[in-house]
Amino acid sequence: MSARSGARSEERLPAATPATMPAAFNAGPGQFELRQVAVPRPAPDEALVRVRASGICGSDKHEFQRERPPRIAGHEFAGTIAGFGSACAAAGGLRQGDAVVVAPLVGCGACPACRRGEFADCEGDRGVRGTIGYSRPGAFAAYAAVPVRNLLPMSPALSFEEASVVEPAAVGLHAASRAGLQGQRCLVVGAGAIGLLVAQAATVRGAAEVWVADTDPRHLEVAASLGLRPLQVGRDAAPAGELDVAFECVGGNDAPLATAVDALHKYGVLVLVGSGHPGGLSTRTVVSRHLTVHGSTGTAMAELREAQELVAAGRIRVQPLISGVFPVGQITEAFAASLSAQKVIVEP
Ligand SMILES: [Zn+2]
Ligand SMILES: [Zn+2]
Repeated sequence: MSARSGARSEERLPAATPATMPAAFNAGPGQFELRQVAVPRPAPDEALVRVRASGICGSDKHEFQRERPPRIAGHEFAGTIAGFGSACAAAGGLRQGDAVVVAPLVGCGACPACRRGEFADCEGDRGVRGTIGYSRPGAFAAYAAVPVRNLLPMSPALSFEEASVVEPAAVGLHAASRAGLQGQRCLVVGAGAIGLLVAQAATVRGAAEVWVADTDPRHLEVAASLGLRPLQVGRDAAPAGELDVAFECVGGNDAPLATAVDALHKYGVLVLVGSGHPGGLSTRTVVSRHLTVHGSTGTAMAELREAQELVAAGRIRVQPLISGVFPVGQITEAFAASLSAQKVIVEP
């Protein structure tokens, strides 16, 4: 008996699980290469997920336009359970073959925050253990190992493609939940996937009016089709000094931050979802205009669950955001297409 098959009997993986799989590694700016690598072996508290759909995130676009050490990215995904690690006797009611949505942030699993499913706030001695698709192998591959506590049973109302957008929808819901939105007039800067998910979440949270600003008229067409109020930066007159809440969902340069701040009235609320503004936010502006500033990143299991319900109910629409689905063998083309798209999905 080989070591590998011995490990399988402990890990409760079906005999049909292959030993190797194709996985996409970044290979220079905008370039990817497919390598055949070992199928990950789930740790005792993990499941092996057969990836069915994996979205390219805005953060991946930022990352892989630069030279980065090769890794398997992909953190927005849905799939089916191929098997379990050795200690998953009671795997939260999940069974082999079940469809699941994945929360990518991995905590210790034992602290109060992790028990609440708030892995970003893990208080374990080593803190957050990593993120699938960043410090742990991700889902631009046939399989990924995922702690069982990070799995949400997938709604039967969703396709795998739609389910792969539940995680960014939950990120949007988390951001919208940072500010009280009932009856508020809002601006979302950035009509990328996260911006449009934040904007729809703001509507769900009771916002009276949701503007979406972007420079790209094609992105704004999608915003308008979702019932949001489009605002083309540089062409349309932006609401100046009159809105209650502004979400900055672009990052990387200062212009979108200025658009967000300029729209707010005194005592307005600014929520930063994008980051990496080289000029930063002037404290003089915050002080003189009595602004309240919140940061937002990640999501919790409760938000993943709520986001999935909202997507399944059609209250957060993800299909209009999906502009392309590519096999993993064409990930370089998928990545190129994603640069001008809201959401491109890769399927192994
Ligand atoms: Zn993402
Ligand atoms: Zn923890």
